[in-house]
Amino acid sequence: RIIDAAPSSPNEEAIERALRPKHLDEYVGQAKIRSQLEIFISAARKRSEALDHTLLFGPPGLGKTTLANIIAREMGVNMRQTSGPVLERPGDLAAILTNLEANDVLFIDEIHRLSPVVEEILYPALEDYQIDIMIGEGPAARSVKLDLQPFTLVGATTRAGMLTNPLRDRFGIVARLEFYTTEELAKIVTRSAALLKANIDDGGALEIARRARGTPRIANRLLRRVRDYAEVKGNGDITRELADAALRMLDVDHAGFDVMDRKLLEAVLYKFGGGPVGIGNLAAAIGEAADTIEDVLEPYLIQQGFLQRTPRGRVATAQAYQHFGVNPPRTSAT
Ligand code: ADP
Repeated sequence: RIIDAAPSSPNEEAIERALRPKHLDEYVGQAKIRSQLEIFISAARKRSEALDHTLLFGPPGLGKTTLANIIAREMGVNMRQTSGPVLERPGDLAAILTNLEANDVLFIDEIHRLSPVVEEILYPALEDYQIDIMIGEGPAARSVKLDLQPFTLVGATTRAGMLTNPLRDRFGIVARLEFYTTEELAKIVTRSAALLKANIDDGGALEIARRARGTPRIANRLLRRVRDYAEVKGNGDITRELADAALRMLDVDHAGFDVMDRKLLEAVLYKFGGGPVGIGNLAAAIGEAADTIEDVLEPYLIQQGFLQRTPRGRVATAQAYQHFGVNPPRTSAT
């Protein structure tokens, strides 16, 4: 699956790491976030303090992990990485927190999936760099306060709305990542191609960029598939024509929609008469988890104006009808 949220194999993870920009000025796009971070980081460095806790939110593949790594590097500190679902017990988090050095970055991916008992010990850690841990059991149990080094929590989530209020309130910096423009993605593709030693011209890079759902991870993934195609079916050079042929073979259409995107839009159009349709019914109709629809599929379709979220459910827009060459009904909600 091309649009999957996570890197799909250890091999892919290694490639992603290799393609990750390491400094803020190599990080393409997200201009507002970049210029804010530049100021906050240099101010924190001047005072030799930890950067404020930072929340990054946005769909998968937009560069949250990359940015967390860059923050640590620009601060000149180490980064520890974990994720919400991995931290099962308070002790798991306590072990990590007590090992942090001064001003380190702790990156917690999927922070909206922290269990409440783990979240509980995070609050005093964030506020006062202290944790309360229980020692012993039963009547002899007592709570002990431990001091921590000052640190920066960088939390990443696909949906800021899923965070509890007390947790959200503890982030001093909140950054919402946007989908990338075609030009920005073309820049990323060109840079990645150079690192992968693939021969690509501007037309080839733009074609891949246009069809990458506004997402750097997908752009890099498409680039690697197109490179395979170029090596087998051509002489290795990636031109616009070659990229187009390769992407068609991969079932990525001219709007950049893959099989799942089309399945979702077709279900709304044909099975539910253009909507409104509730998320549960839609999930059942296309055999995809409601979470995946909300986190991965929908944001891009909505941003591109193919789908609307209304109080009564999802509704296809005139643009969606057009894409599939269907006439919108006169009663359409759009
Ligand atoms: P997320 O954590 O939001 O799911 P990642 O940070 O893992 O996304 O990014 C996925 C891939 O996309 C990385 O391998 C990285 O190379 C690339 N990438 C993401 N954002 C950028 C960017 N702004 N500039 C260049 N490459 C990027």
